Amino acid sequence: MSIPVDAIDPTATARRWSEKFTYHLDLIPVVLEAIVETTLPALGVSRGGSRFDRPQVTGGGYQDTMSAMLAVFDQSGRADGIQPSAAVKDARELWSWLVEYTNAVDAWIAPTRPAPTLASRPDADPLTARALALTACGWLIDHADTIHTVTELDEHSEAMFTEIRRLRGRYGVTPRPRTPREMCTTCGRRDVVAAWASDPSGSPKPIRVARCRSCGETWRGRP
Ligand SMILES: [Zn+2]
Repeated sequence: MSIPVDAIDPTATARRWSEKFTYHLDLIPVVLEAIVETTLPALGVSRGGSRFDRPQVTGGGYQDTMSAMLAVFDQSGRADGIQPSAAVKDARELWSWLVEYTNAVDAWIAPTRPAPTLASRPDADPLTARALALTACGWLIDHADTIHTVTELDEHSEAMFTEIRRLRGRYGVTPRPRTPREMCTTCGRRDVVAAWASDPSGSPKPIRVARCRSCGETWRGRP
């Protein structure tokens, strides 16, 4: 049985609620980006385009390589990997939670600025999907104090938070990322680290850069 903190400090409930609310909403953009990134083989590669400057892999084929990488990507312990089609479903589900919750909040409160207009489907580009989610989550966090007073929304947010935690575990998104390193296409070692960098061409979207710590090979995008 826990100590009734609320009886001692009446602001404790509000503070805990706010921390939990912000924690989960902050996760949505990064989790969504990770999921949408996982959908990419299903969305673009078969049309022959390297939409994101990704070199096509010869021999084993891009799809085979991606399948092998996705097999180690699932952090939930199921160890059977994540198929791109399953990731599409997950992306749509998480996006639906965000859209429906944002609309519900908008209907319940008198917002200080208009709620963002959100499409019914998540954007197919990971960075755009993340940016749109950031806008919606920022709007929600800005109105947290008001949302806290609407207890009718609690059930909805609790269900959404549960889904966020499930997907965060499944896609290996943690405050300290522990996603396995990617396979180097040059030396074959699983020792590729990645980071986001500003685009030298001046685009506001950051670009993903990767480097093999074993042989020093670098990529824009993925190996
Ligand atoms: Zn290497």
